[in-house]
Amino acid sequence: MKVYKFGGASVKNADGVRNLAHIVEGEENLFIIVSAMGKTTNALERVFSHMQNQRKQEANDEIKQIQAYHAEIIDDLWGEKTEINEVTLLFGQLRNIINDITYRHSDAELWYDTIVAFGELISTTIISKYLNHIGTRNRWIDMRTTFITSQRHKDANVDIKASKLRLRASLENTGVSVFVGQGFIGAAPDGTTTTLGREGSDYSAAVVANILDAESMSVWKDVEGVLNADPKVFKDAVKIDELSYLDTIELAYSGAQIIHPKTIKPLQNKNIPLYVRPFSDKTKPGTVIGGDAKHVSMPIMILKRDQVFLVIRSREFSFVMEEQFGEIFSMLERFRIKTHLIHNSAVDLGLCVDSSWHIDELEKALEEEGFDVEKIENVCLLTIRYYNNELYHRYIRDHKHIVRQVNPEAVRVVMRAEDFDAELRQIG
Ligand code: ASP
Ligand code: MG
Repeated sequence: MKVYKFGGASVKNADGVRNLAHIVEGEENLFIIVSAMGKTTNALERVFSHMQNQRKQEANDEIKQIQAYHAEIIDDLWGEKTEINEVTLLFGQLRNIINDITYRHSDAELWYDTIVAFGELISTTIISKYLNHIGTRNRWIDMRTTFITSQRHKDANVDIKASKLRLRASLENTGVSVFVGQGFIGAAPDGTTTTLGREGSDYSAAVVANILDAESMSVWKDVEGVLNADPKVFKDAVKIDELSYLDTIELAYSGAQIIHPKTIKPLQNKNIPLYVRPFSDKTKPGTVIGGDAKHVSMPIMILKRDQVFLVIRSREFSFVMEEQFGEIFSMLERFRIKTHLIHNSAVDLGLCVDSSWHIDELEKALEEEGFDVEKIENVCLLTIRYYNNELYHRYIRDHKHIVRQVNPEAVRVVMRAEDFDAELRQIG
């Protein structure tokens, strides 16, 4: 069995879907994982945000646009005005949620997941139907019935042990050897829909590969392979031919947008190679990630935006901040806030965290526990792994940073987004 994953950008229009069909043509024993088409997840996040703020009309307008976008792709693929009943039903279910549910903020993550999951349910329905229509016989798999995840909405992990039998059983007696399933989604033990974190389809594909003992997994993208920097931000980005699992994990955790950080473990555990390949040309090698790959030798730049920097200090002056770390981190966990950089001194603790809906609640809780909190919003975190002198001079030395951490392998800085953007404009 092989596993192919197609991201939203690769199926953003009818040409993209035809290209997917071309890539999988003639393949057997293939499990295809697909994300939501184009920017559908962002649009569904807006639907959710309207729901959160009791703007039913705006939510319905947004759904109408999402439906029109998909209808256009369907008509283009079938070459005439076509209605797919299953797709119409899914849009009906989505509308019912918006119009009938009484929303409670304490359930924010649950409703977020319920709504954004429609992107993948719709995209896979269209793609599976289209492949059958053109003769690539396949079966649509509902990942909510095969992936049992943790009871943790918006950032769930798949319980591989619990999902194994279900996934395997869903492939049996189907009479086909090509399967199409949704990335990004699963179901919690209580039966509600969960999502695995933004960009989580890579992780879905890796779990499928692990459970099915796949010979390889390929991620088809709109780039040549893994690059050493985001070409939209940094000029001179170049392709990396080979990456070890370990380097990839480090990169993904620092915020490189190549692959979701949770993707590597399930593959590494079974030594399954991961290919990152350009969907525009299936003959090109892309990048191979695997246990035998050499240590990467070029510098790698990773920028993480939408961060908040918190400086936490004990009100009763104490030099033993360490004793309070446990308490602080359990609060971060309680409010589901992810930390990406820790900077501590004798008296305070600096944390670079993801911007989240619950930052203000965390701040309040910390203050109630006797901490003073200073908050700097709209910062970014730049990591340069295997940096060299030139890069150090260009991006690090003499620049305005809130925090700078330098070690022989990597330098990491937290800075205001506006300072970083000004810096980029200057460098050109
Ligand atoms: N559709 C989801 C997202 O946009 C999952 C994914 O693309 O991997 O985040
Ligand atoms: Mg994506």
